[in-house]
This record gives sequence, structure tokens and C-alpha cells, in this order.
Amino acid sequence: MTITYDVLIVGSGHAGAQAAIALRQLKFEGSIAIVGDDPEIPYERPPLSKDYLVGIKSFDRILIRPEAFWVDRGVDLLRGLRVVSIDPSAHRVTTDDCGVIGYRQLVWATGGQARKLQCPGYDLAGVHTIRSRDDVDNLHAEIDTTMRVVVVGGGYIGLECAASLSKMGKQVTVLEALDRVLARVAGEPLSRFYEAEHRAHGVDIRLNEQVECIEGRAGRAIGVRLASGEVFATDMVIVGIGIVPSVEPLRAAGAASGNGIAVGEYGQTSLPDVFAIGDCALHTNVFTDYSEIRLESVQNAHDMALCVAKAIIGNPEPYRAVPWFWSIQYDLHLQTVGLSTGYEQVVLRGNPEDRSFSLVYLKAGRVVALDCVNAAKDYVQGKALVVGRVAAKTQDLSDVSIPLKTLVGTLSDVTSE
Ligand code: FAD
Repeated sequence: MTITYDVLIVGSGHAGAQAAIALRQLKFEGSIAIVGDDPEIPYERPPLSKDYLVGIKSFDRILIRPEAFWVDRGVDLLRGLRVVSIDPSAHRVTTDDCGVIGYRQLVWATGGQARKLQCPGYDLAGVHTIRSRDDVDNLHAEIDTTMRVVVVGGGYIGLECAASLSKMGKQVTVLEALDRVLARVAGEPLSRFYEAEHRAHGVDIRLNEQVECIEGRAGRAIGVRLASGEVFATDMVIVGIGIVPSVEPLRAAGAASGNGIAVGEYGQTSLPDVFAIGDCALHTNVFTDYSEIRLESVQNAHDMALCVAKAIIGNPEPYRAVPWFWSIQYDLHLQTVGLSTGYEQVVLRGNPEDRSFSLVYLKAGRVVALDCVNAAKDYVQGKALVVGRVAAKTQDLSDVSIPLKTLVGTLSDVTSE
């Protein structure tokens, strides 16, 4: 007999867990199940490159909720099961153990898989990506015999891993293909600041470097060869070059898609009674002037989950949440609000040498985003500038004696100039 759930959530990560939590908070009384291919109950991913990697936090401390929570709330956790196909007209999914589960509403929250290198040696032992608990536990199993680590990719995850591993006493090299780290997500002053910080901690940051292959011996990685011919001898390689959204079963069922599953403003896909949320959802965001984007952040996973939960209980509200993000490297706490995509100007507020400063991003003279390093006050106050898309003078933004909150009302002054 096929079990049918009122809401079936596929994916037990941040978005899937939060969808169930939000539904119960909104007093939804129907049956809910989360089917996830991870054998664990839902846990947080950000610590995987930070405190869990270093060993400061145990697995119990990164659970999204304790096990009893899911039992108390009547949420069935179907662990270690992968959905392989969907029949949208029958409202059923099939899992990799050939099981069939019915749904009234389906929430697709499958995130993405870590992108692998496309070069010889990509699959040698000792080459790691970091997306799940298992990934980090596998890395931990090798850590005692590891002295040198090459991190491929200078994005947030690569840099966080570099900071964590250097904290653990490893000799770390970061290879970045572009001419600066964080090039896709931040302005140049932030990139240069982080490059200098990592170098000061003994991390060798190499820019404009293309990996040609991973060299191996007896099936194990022993070096990374660059296009220039240079070889970095290493005991371990960590690849942090983004994710590929896990959307094939939905795509095969006919859902409209691009770089992710296309969703409307309530998280609805093109298939009846099917929603998509989190890292796998391609949506038009208010903060990108309604152009399509797929965001990879806890904020987006949580807020899209809430948006879809509201739609399911019949109280739909369009997705309008303000994007935010954080990253921790060494003693540097970066907080980001808004999206700097397409910015035209970046204003430095404060002095990076003080290790507390912000970058304010402007488009057409209006504030679209802030990156705040050890500057929580700017982050909190800057949010209103982003939400209001406030036009502000660059000399005011760069003057640390002027609190950002006092600039919120300056819109008309500036536009009338
Ligand atoms: P996920 O959390 O990836 O969950 C998706 C789940 O679905 C996975 O368990 C997956 O295995 C499962 N799944 C996939 N396909 C199927 C299928 N067919 N059937 C069943 N299950 C399936 N964000 C921040 O905002 N700040 C940070 O500091 C930060 N640091 C990060 C550090 C690391 C190492 C990583 C990996 C991510 C970090 N992120 C951070 C990003 C953040 O964790 C993600 O944006 C968030 O996890 C997205 O949630 P999600 O539920 O959409 O996807």
C-alpha cells in the first residue's frame, strides 16, 4: 500500500527542515514527511567548514533540532532514501529502494552536490569536497597523516577551509583561477583584505592558476599540477568550486528549469502542487531587480521555506526577504546584507588595517549591499539602506563618524541634487 503525505518534503537540509518547522509553527495539522538521502537527521552545513571541521563543535551541537523535536511535531524523517523520479499527475515519487510515496503537496529542497574538478585525477583518494557530515568525517580520518593541503577555489568555502586547516597547524595553499579571491561575490578591497589575512596566517594564496591535473601514486593524490607546469606536492586536496543543483528528477518530470528549478514568487514550480526552495530554486529576487538568481545561503533556505509553508496553508505571501550571509575566517566575522551583483561603485568605510570596516555597494547611486567585517553595527544599520535602496553620498558613507542609520532619510536630499 502506498502512503500518501499531505506534504512530502524532499531533502533534509536547511530548507527542507525549515519547511516542516514553519508548517508546524503555522499550525498545519496534516501529515508531513521529509525524505532525504543523508543518513543523519537535519543538521547545519555552515559549521562543516568552520567549527565542526576544526573539531570545536561535536555533531550533536550542529543539529537543526534534536531528534525528539521531529517525533513531537509528528514529522516523519525518512532517512537515507533518495527520490529518483516523480510522477506529477499521480502525485507520487519513487525512491532508490523502489518504494513509492504519495503526496498532496511536494516541496523539493534538494540543494546541490559539490562540483568536482573535470581533470585527470579528480577522483583519487585524498581529493575531498565538503558538503555533508560524511565528507568532513572522511577528511578527519586522514587528517593526522596530513601535513600539506591544497585548496582549489578561493570562494567562501575554500577560504573557510583554509582558515580552519591553518588553525589546525596544516600547511595550506589556495589555488584560485581568477585574479582575486571571492571575485564572484565581493568587491576588490574585500578580496585583497582576505588575501593579505590568509598570507599573514601562513596560507600560500596563488591567483590566476588553472589546475591541469591531480597527480597520484597508488591511487592517492600526491600533487596538484598547474597549467603553468608547476606542481604542488600535497597530502590532501580540497575542492571548493561551487555546487551543481540536484534537480534531475524534477527536470525529468517536466518542471521548467535553468540553473536550478524555476519558481514563481510563492515558490511554486511549473508542476501542479510542487514547490522548490533553497539552493536548488531559481527565482526572481527583488534585490536583483527581479532578474533570476539561485542563492546559496541559510537565509534563502529559511525564508523560502517560510514562504512556501504560507502558500501551503492558504495564506500566500510573495518572496521578498532581504538576502544576508556570513562567513567566519580566523577572528574575522563577515556579515553581508543585500546582493552586490551588478554594483557600479564600492565605498570603503573604515580602515581594513583596523580589522573592522565595511564596503558599501552602490548601483545608480543607491545602496544595494554591504559587506561588514567585524562591523556588526554597520550590518544592522545598513540593512535599512539596502531595503530602502537609499541614495547616499559617498563621502557620507565613507565617514565612520556618521552612523549609517542617520542616512536612511537622505534619499530625497540626494535625488533632488
Ligand atoms: P542542503 O542543505 O544542501 O540540503 C539538501 C539535502 O537534500 C541534502 O541532504 C541532499 O543530500 C538531499 N538530496 C538531494 N537530492 C535528493 C534526492 N533526490 N532525494 C533525497 N534527498 C536529496 N550559508 C550561509 O548563509 N553562511 C555560511 O557561513 C555558510 N557556510 C557554508 C559552509 C559549507 C561547508 C557549506 C556546504 C554550505 C555553507 N552555506 C553557508 C550554504 C548553506 O549551508 C546552504 O545554502 C544551505 O544548506 C542550503 O540549504 P538547502 O536545504 O537548500 O540544501
